[in-house]
Amino acid sequence: MTNSARLLRAGIDMGGTGTRFILLEGLREVAALTVPTAEFDAIPQSRRSDELVSRLRQLCPADGQIISLGIGASGPVNNRSGVIENSDTLACFSFFPLLDELQQRLNVPAAIDNDAVVAALGEFHAGAGVGSQRMLMVTLGTGIGVALLDKGQPFRTIDGRHPEAGHIPVSGSTHRCYCGVTGCWETEASRGWLQQALLQLLPNLHWPQLTVKRLDALSADDPRVAAILSEYGGRVGRGLSTLLALYGPDLTVLSGSAARLLPLFRPSLDTALQRASGYHLSPQIISSSLGDAAGALGAALLPTIREPVKRS
Ligand SMILES: [Zn+2]
Repeated sequence: MTNSARLLRAGIDMGGTGTRFILLEGLREVAALTVPTAEFDAIPQSRRSDELVSRLRQLCPADGQIISLGIGASGPVNNRSGVIENSDTLACFSFFPLLDELQQRLNVPAAIDNDAVVAALGEFHAGAGVGSQRMLMVTLGTGIGVALLDKGQPFRTIDGRHPEAGHIPVSGSTHRCYCGVTGCWETEASRGWLQQALLQLLPNLHWPQLTVKRLDALSADDPRVAAILSEYGGRVGRGLSTLLALYGPDLTVLSGSAARLLPLFRPSLDTALQRASGYHLSPQIISSSLGDAAGALGAALLPTIREPVKRS
């Protein structure tokens, strides 16, 4: 490294669909790239870490020097052993010493964590959560991801892992979630529930292109659509009510593809959070500002947090 080298933090956000790479100089994005995760599935496991490092080096400008690496990954992640344990949606990066291999190849401090944690770090440092003292982030996607940052530090279980707070019982439903709980919040209120309910009513609805404006118009035309949106706000609110009562954050950031529809289910969400005087819950609930970009950005910042899980 020369004195004039630009010091860059590398982040990788691994999802079931896409793997996003980013290089940051301070908080500024220097370069970024998203690759279909299926591309890594197609090469032998023994070469996957080499391929990840190769992609990072290709992104790195000639005057740049990678000084750390952070990884966010969907599903269970053991941030102590550095092994992803997600055979469902991230099998190609699971159950081998990924963090050790990457650290050996790059020879820089490295850390790994759940994707909900890194997305929250991204919003906290560079997005909707800037200035928050205690930020709750809830991702309404295929499932429900939850992360709590207290003064920027992720809240952990006693053994240092990420608590799966999207899996809390919120209803008397007898349907059993894959986590083992009946009436689980993830089953009751993920984007998947909303999408399925709307598709049953409107089979031709194209979810990826669904805008707030379009759904608002559909809701105005059909009270059954309005009823689904109202029901969804109540379902999101039932889990959020528990988390807000337990943790008392000053800000809640909603992300994931259902969060962009927040204006349409906000009234029933607010109603679900109303309590008697003296049992007041923080009303500060906003949508994420970085969207899908939050994960890789937050991953790059992961080695900078004070916890003992990083390796150097
Ligand atoms: Zn569950």
